[in-house]
Amino acid sequence: MPTTQTIHTIAIIGAGQMGGGIAQVAAASGFKTLVCDASSSALGRCRDGHTKRLAREVEKGRMKDTDMQAALGRLHYVENLEMLKGADIVIEAIVEDAKVKRELFQKLASMFPTQILASNTSSISITEICASVGPQGHPERVIGMHFFNPVPVMKLVEVIRGLQTSNDTVQRVTNLATQLGKTPIPANDRAGFVSNRVLMPLINEAFYAWMEGVAEPQHIDEIMKLGCNFPMGPLRLADFIGLDTCVHIMNVLAEGLGSDRYRPCPLLRQLVAAGRMGDKTGKGVYDYSPQPAPVQPGHGGMTSSKAAVGV
Ligand code: NAD
Repeated sequence: MPTTQTIHTIAIIGAGQMGGGIAQVAAASGFKTLVCDASSSALGRCRDGHTKRLAREVEKGRMKDTDMQAALGRLHYVENLEMLKGADIVIEAIVEDAKVKRELFQKLASMFPTQILASNTSSISITEICASVGPQGHPERVIGMHFFNPVPVMKLVEVIRGLQTSNDTVQRVTNLATQLGKTPIPANDRAGFVSNRVLMPLINEAFYAWMEGVAEPQHIDEIMKLGCNFPMGPLRLADFIGLDTCVHIMNVLAEGLGSDRYRPCPLLRQLVAAGRMGDKTGKGVYDYSPQPAPVQPGHGGMTSSKAAVGV
């Protein structure tokens, strides 16, 4: 089934850090953009974030005021999937949970019978997501379109084809990524694709180093920045990605690659169990509250604050 319609309207499901970023880029690139989230507070934060970040672009002289107003006018926030009807492509950016994503794609298959359905998953099998729409749901129009965080800044889009994905779908998503000012690069559908297959075990190992008392978090991060020329240490990056997302990705790697060495570090899991997800909850490895209290996870007595990582 060739999906021939020109893309004018992009629907994004999930208004968190990634969905919000993708929506901002889509609207700034001239597309009518519909953003949907199950949580009204997430939608409110997403809308506030757009207003603030686009205004900053104008302040810094990177965008004209009229362009900012036009981009904001192209953004629409909806709580109901039904209100996405009419979109030419759907980009899913909800929680990194295979079951939840599969359920959503099943619904999308009937709501959007011919449109491309793309997932921004960091690690979950695109072939499985394709299969969830069923043989009658045209799995050939399902694809992985993996943006990076923060989306307005990061140039890469990893384009992942499932076993069922058609060449036409790959081509159209590659073109769209280019229209969004990104650099699309293909990767095959293996757990974690390329980016997280390589990055996430490194982050997980940094948690083990912290848990085993090899060094305090800020020292682990500084060593990796100064010694390996990383722009950001792995623990700081984990907070930025979201510790819950890191656990989900490690679980997918462990299951998909069949090796215990990919199991999420117990300390990483413990922080998530305590509700410390990183930047998005104000506390993760580091404390991002205005007056950070020492964070004491009960091993090694480390204290950390945002000052410790220079943010
Ligand atoms: P997030 O927690 O910031 O946002 C997820 C949003 O999805 C939340 O607002 C939540 O309310 C919403 N949601 C959850 N289930 C939903 C449903 N069934 N219907 C509608 N909305 C629903 O997460 P995020 O960091 O934006 O990650 C989203 C996706 O992007 C995940 O698949 C993640 O792996 C992937 N990703 C994340 C990063 C990163 O650095 N955080 C980078 C690349 C890809």
